[in-house]
Amino acid sequence: MLTFGSVSLQRMRIHIFSLTTDQKTLNYSSSKFPIFDELYNNEHEQVVICSDPDTGLKAIIAIHNTTLGPSLGGTRMWNYESEEAALRDVLRLSRGMTYKSAISGLNLGGGKAIIIGDARTDKTEALFRAFGRFVDGLGGRYITAEDVGMTEKEMEWIYSETKYVTGIPKALGGSGNPSPVTAYGVYMGVKACAKKAYGSDSLEGKKIALQGAGNVASSFARHAAKEGAKLYISDIYDDKAKALVEEVGGELVDNPDDIYGLDVDIFTPCALGGVINDDTMKQFKCDIIAGAANNVLDEEDKHGQMLLDKGIIYAPDYVINAGGIINIASELEGYDEERALNNAGNIYNTITDILSYSDEHGIPAHKASNALAEKRIETVGKIKNKYSSNAHVSGRFGSMYKRFID
Ligand code: NAD
Repeated sequence: MLTFGSVSLQRMRIHIFSLTTDQKTLNYSSSKFPIFDELYNNEHEQVVICSDPDTGLKAIIAIHNTTLGPSLGGTRMWNYESEEAALRDVLRLSRGMTYKSAISGLNLGGGKAIIIGDARTDKTEALFRAFGRFVDGLGGRYITAEDVGMTEKEMEWIYSETKYVTGIPKALGGSGNPSPVTAYGVYMGVKACAKKAYGSDSLEGKKIALQGAGNVASSFARHAAKEGAKLYISDIYDDKAKALVEEVGGELVDNPDDIYGLDVDIFTPCALGGVINDDTMKQFKCDIIAGAANNVLDEEDKHGQMLLDKGIIYAPDYVINAGGIINIASELEGYDEERALNNAGNIYNTITDILSYSDEHGIPAHKASNALAEKRIETVGKIKNKYSSNAHVSGRFGSMYKRFID
């Protein structure tokens, strides 16, 4: 199905340019229109380009896959160097969300939005409210949340125009800061890796190199220290690292670059991406790499394979840090922190399954994880071929979205 549409909404001049693809029915060469090649190659369902000249809004919403449920993923505000770069980023990120939700056992699909602009200078109430109306127009096919360049304030503006928002502040009935739940999921994921490496999941006496002393790292450090792990902590801000060392014990890593080569059991990256690369690979002496940071493999296939070859157990980043999405997904059902933590604790089992699959098939953990995510989408997708009256609102899948039911 292909649709191109334009609508006027209230007094704003809003144009919706919506591309939807259904690979089963489209059957022509799209070589003269490369955007469709992009959508086909990565199997995206829909891309919505949102433009509102009055507010300066330039946004793209990408919906990758809705087999398991409505697509969910944050909105990122970024000063992209070109429109193509913006489109590529939103396509890549939305696809990643499909895998993340699927492997985490959530009834959600993958989506993401980007707003082109400078997060320091271009934010206005009207711009975010205009964006909120575009999200609302998708009727729940896409649910948004906070991402890079956004704060609670902008999320509140978006929420003024649409209910399809999650991860909202506690004051507005939401779940607030997801970091403690993310950290608990990381802690459980690290334990699953320890079980695989040492036959016991206890972290007592284990040496952990912790990169970063931010929100997730601090909360993770408290769990690990409580269990008797010895922490070696680095941050580019010395005072942050020192404060955490003081709180949980352990040692300060004076030079943040020294963290990769420490003689430890576990490396837990909780700062930035790309830290598993050609250079650091030569330095690692650890048995396990498992942490919250996103996109830690500099070149996914190359460095994922290198970890396998070196015998380092790796917990795929998007799986072990899924506590954040598990937390905001819980909000859709009516938030309960204990339940969110329990669900994040299940990351232990997910990582265990991934590591077993990786062993059985002799493939790197990130590939094992992708394969298991695809398997879930395929098997759950098949049951949806059967007729079920009011299937869209029946069962937990339908009734879970309490906030969306009027
Ligand atoms: P944060 O900003 O609170 O903490 C990051 C810390 O890393 C900061 O203290 C920063 O100074 C430090 N840092 C930056 N570069 C460093 C370096 N080279 N060496 C050592 N420290 C360095 O962020 P956070 O919310 O704790 O998130 C940490 C990571 O986890 C990020 O990659 C984030 O994308 C990912 N993540 C977070 C969540 C969440 O719920 N917060 C969810 C999923 C993924």
